[in-house]
Amino acid sequence: MRRGFALALVVALLVAPSHAFAMHSVPGWPVFWDKDSNGIPNSTDSVEYYQTAGTLWTSSKIQRLQAAISRWTNGTDWNPAYSCCSTNGVYINGATLPACFSSWNSASIAATCLSFTNRGSYGDIFDTDISLNEVHWNFSWSASEPPSGFADAQGVSTHELGHGIFLLDLSGTANCPPGPTMCGVITSGQLPYTMDLRTLTSDDVSSANYVYLP
Ligand SMILES: [Zn+2]
Repeated sequence: MRRGFALALVVALLVAPSHAFAMHSVPGWPVFWDKDSNGIPNSTDSVEYYQTAGTLWTSSKIQRLQAAISRWTNGTDWNPAYSCCSTNGVYINGATLPACFSSWNSASIAATCLSFTNRGSYGDIFDTDISLNEVHWNFSWSASEPPSGFADAQGVSTHELGHGIFLLDLSGTANCPPGPTMCGVITSGQLPYTMDLRTLTSDDVSSANYVYLP
């Protein structure tokens, strides 16, 4: 049994498609958040709690995050939830780097770092850090369509939450954009499509239900 290690998953939105990448290969097993630490995926473990972390969160921004979380909860067997108290933190404004990053770069609009323990036949998630790169990019926190030049924070958050259960960035004309929420490549001229990431496609749903155990 190996101790968990941090993985980085990057949304390489906004730049050339060749910049799209995931910084790791996904393990060949499914995952779950073993809340009760009994090694068995049961209904209790279907819920994974996220909290807002860092500064500059406002109630309206939290609403957008909650909407992103709800999309997965309502659409898949995985049930992330918003809570005041969790190890899983969602950061904004770029002030806090994800744990697996040494520095932001302009190629990444957001990042998710996932920590898990290898249990042999499954991955036991114990911490997820999501951060939106507001150092280099403009985000719209509106409920409606983002203005020109802005990325939709709710859409990007929905995408990053998917990385929290090991879903990978998709690329290619069949997937991007608008395509599935897990489309990980959007050029600078395609920022309006980030709003489409709010809505899960059948591909996103089936992938989440496949990879998340409970
Ligand atoms: Zn991504």
